[in-house]
Amino acid sequence: MLDAGGRHRGGRHRYGGAVRAGSLAPVPRLSEVIAALNDLWPAERAESWDAVGTVVGDPDQEVRRVLFAVDPVQEIVDEAVKLGADLLVTHHPLYLRGTTTVAASTFKGRVVHTLIKHDVALHVAHTNADTADPGVSDALAGALDLRVVGPLVPDAGDPAGRRGLGRICELDHPITVRELAARAAERLPATAQGVRVAGDAEAVVRTVAVSGGSGDGLFDAVRAAGVDAFLTADLRHHPASEAVADRTHGSLALLDAAHWATEWPWCELAAAQLDQISDRHGWDLRVHVSKTVTDPWTAHAASTATTS
Ligand SMILES: [Zn+2]
Repeated sequence: MLDAGGRHRGGRHRYGGAVRAGSLAPVPRLSEVIAALNDLWPAERAESWDAVGTVVGDPDQEVRRVLFAVDPVQEIVDEAVKLGADLLVTHHPLYLRGTTTVAASTFKGRVVHTLIKHDVALHVAHTNADTADPGVSDALAGALDLRVVGPLVPDAGDPAGRRGLGRICELDHPITVRELAARAAERLPATAQGVRVAGDAEAVVRTVAVSGGSGDGLFDAVRAAGVDAFLTADLRHHPASEAVADRTHGSLALLDAAHWATEWPWCELAAAQLDQISDRHGWDLRVHVSKTVTDPWTAHAASTATTS
């Protein structure tokens, strides 16, 4: 499913439909669009273990349509082809650890083949988008109407103190953990998992840390921030159990949403950012956001057994 017709807020070339003959707006080259994306999320700000940047694409090819998505999986690539996109921008890398083959008999090789056959470029903004200002966790906070105070783990290289991993947020009106979980379940795109809660569901939340994607490694920063709740994804038994039990900084509730759902709001933010850049340049460019759910978890069975 797609935004019908894509985003096209600029008034200079809003023709609707496919008929845009006679448009004098310049069509950007891939190299120009990538340069704009690199300004938003410089590759050198990615973690050393990460694999960001352009994976597939000819710098000289024209780009008229861009699709944003979380995962560079076959389903999304097929969607990009069907849409007629010239560029797919994803949050997750295709190859994080390198490869010795792109044979179409492998599922990632099949992705590469499909992209090249249909002249679709692939560009990745991962940890460089996580820590950006605005970044992945700003989008997550925005989806829940949380007021961002600052980064959870500030980037030492940012004198303004705005970039970094995760965000610390305040609520204008305190709510319970249960209400915050309900808000997350309502505002984030639907997944089989929904939102799990650890700790006291009736505790009052005034401050909350959020981190899109796996937040398992951020507990020290979350405890030090002294927040009432932490919303993230991929939490495991032991770190979660210990974080809830440790009352050194007061009580902490955990909200665990699906990894994909916590990062998807960034696609909308990123698409809006590129749309603004396109308007500034007067480009003939349409920007879309994929609504296909690519969270790997597809079903959920609520427990019915009794433990007594
Ligand atoms: Zn992720």
